[in-house]
Amino acid sequence: MSNDYFVGDGRDITGGHDTDGICGGDPRALEEALRYQSIAIDNMTQGLCLFDSEQRVVVCNSQYRHLYGLSELDVRPGTTLEQICRARIANGIYGEDNPEKYIAERTKPFSTAHEQTQRLNDGRTILIRRRPMPDGGWVTTHEDISERCEAEARVAHMALHDGLTGLPNRTLFQSRLEDAMKRVRRGERAALLWLDLDHFKSVNDTYGHPVGDALLCEVAARILSNIRETDTVARLSGDEFAVLQVQVSTANDCSALAQRLISILSEPYMVAGHLLMIGVSVGIAIADSENHDARDLMRSADLALYKSKNEGRGTFRYFATEMDVAMQERRQVEADLRAALVRGEFQLYYQPIMDLKAMKPCGFEALLRWNHPSRGLVAPLNFISIAEETGLIMPITEWVLNQACQDAKGWSRPLSVAVNLSAVHFRHGNPAQSVRKALETSGLDPARLEVEITESLFLDKTVHTAAILEDIKRMGVRISMDDFGTGYSSLSYLTAFPFDKIKIDRSFVKDLPSGKGSLAILRSIAGLGFSLGMTTTAEGVETDEQLAVAIDEGCTEVQGYYFSAPKPLEDMDDTLKNCDDKCAGYTRARGPKFNVV
Ligand code: C2E
Ligand code: CA
Ligand code: CA
Repeated sequence: MSNDYFVGDGRDITGGHDTDGICGGDPRALEEALRYQSIAIDNMTQGLCLFDSEQRVVVCNSQYRHLYGLSELDVRPGTTLEQICRARIANGIYGEDNPEKYIAERTKPFSTAHEQTQRLNDGRTILIRRRPMPDGGWVTTHEDISERCEAEARVAHMALHDGLTGLPNRTLFQSRLEDAMKRVRRGERAALLWLDLDHFKSVNDTYGHPVGDALLCEVAARILSNIRETDTVARLSGDEFAVLQVQVSTANDCSALAQRLISILSEPYMVAGHLLMIGVSVGIAIADSENHDARDLMRSADLALYKSKNEGRGTFRYFATEMDVAMQERRQVEADLRAALVRGEFQLYYQPIMDLKAMKPCGFEALLRWNHPSRGLVAPLNFISIAEETGLIMPITEWVLNQACQDAKGWSRPLSVAVNLSAVHFRHGNPAQSVRKALETSGLDPARLEVEITESLFLDKTVHTAAILEDIKRMGVRISMDDFGTGYSSLSYLTAFPFDKIKIDRSFVKDLPSGKGSLAILRSIAGLGFSLGMTTTAEGVETDEQLAVAIDEGCTEVQGYYFSAPKPLEDMDDTLKNCDDKCAGYTRARGPKFNVV
């Protein structure tokens, strides 16, 4: 018989069956049967213990002993359950309760089969199943389910936390917010601070995701160490975090926290050997007796964040009701924009571009207008940014390209046509394809098409800007750098790609001829264009004097109200005639100075 289990005085361990019935009274057969039972019991993965009606051990397997660190002596047949409990208390492996409570709990009589999980004070979790037997005794099995519980706990944790930073995720945050709102209804005040990192994307793009991830973890750690234990910080998505500040007494509490977060998150980070700088914008919504709906609060904080981002970043803003109105208006514009394409509400206006050497019109810039059914003619500044945010800019640009090429094809003079391309198009689509298609469909000579792009295109390093531009250039289309001088490091972008034209932004023309700074900038861009072999167009020329400066400083083209505002296609012949007349009467033309040999 195995040493690992005891059948005591040979009582029937199968729960009252007549052993004679099984083995036909043959002692050898009985011994054989018991041996098999012993093997079977010891090969169970679970701990097993059988008690009689007096709570005494009848049989107990080795797994049971190992599970609870007991010796054979501790569980020998005849030992009472209470004695086993005491042995376990002595070796320190028992339920989490206090010892007496533990004993009382374990030795309580029961009448029906049941199961129960018990957490031991060494951290393990045991699943105990107990089944009564007809003779008043019972059998218990014990299974260590710690791993399963840990796995379940991990899954539960994962469902509620962000895998990268370990912070609560949106789901958990929302439930904490709901709880906080209950307290707000009872008179407490709370605040929601919505954080969005500034320039995080460029770190990610420049140094790669592992560095971006490490940076986010560092951000999480800095936020955590700057809030109270009762407050909650969550990572909501990408580079968005939220802080739920509870027990707020005045708005000063929120401002102070927001300011602290802004300054600690703006301090330099050392990640994987890189010294990184980012910033953060914060939107704040306060929950009080009047505003305590969790969803409204999140929306309000998000609107306030949007405002703080728009007002220069690195700041915090409180939610104000007007923001709600503005946001609803934007949503309306977005919905209307979607419909506008289908309903054919877009129209192109054309503004002439004048060649200063020949003193005559050399092309037109196509400028988009929206004939809104109730708002009338809408200028692009009021809808282009929304079209960009929603991705609608791509179908809109395709429409512009097709329409402009088709219109130009029918013009009385074979002048060039310029179309504006958005940086968003390069990021999310391929404008080269749209250009190719417009040329094919219209049959316009590619040499007559120009596309205008802005410096913002070069900010996103991940986009193959140069490759797309080269593709367009290979078609024979010319490429202009628009609004030049308004971006960051303008000069380096000029060498990044062989542009055909530089359009000098209106802001450097508007205070001419007196503006000294503007004059110097205009002069140097014109000189730069000349040395790089690029055309230079002064934009926004409105007066005689401005035209004179543009000519004197060596610009090769001008565009502006002086010659004509943008006009619908029907007015094109009139516009051309007006321009011709203006040129004929212009006696000052001397020819751009850089071209004088
Ligand atoms: P932009 O490309 O710099 O276009 C020139 C803008 O300057 C036009 O404004 C034009 O009406 C205005 N302008 C021209 N001459 C003068 C002048 O002498 N004085 C003044 N004060 N303004 C002048 P518009 O048509 O309102 O367009 C504004 C901006 O909207 C454009 O700036 C361009 O960035 C964007 N845009 C227009 N059409 C499109 C388009 O089809 N696609 C894209 N992506 N953007 C477009
Ligand atoms: Ca333009
Ligand atoms: Ca421009």
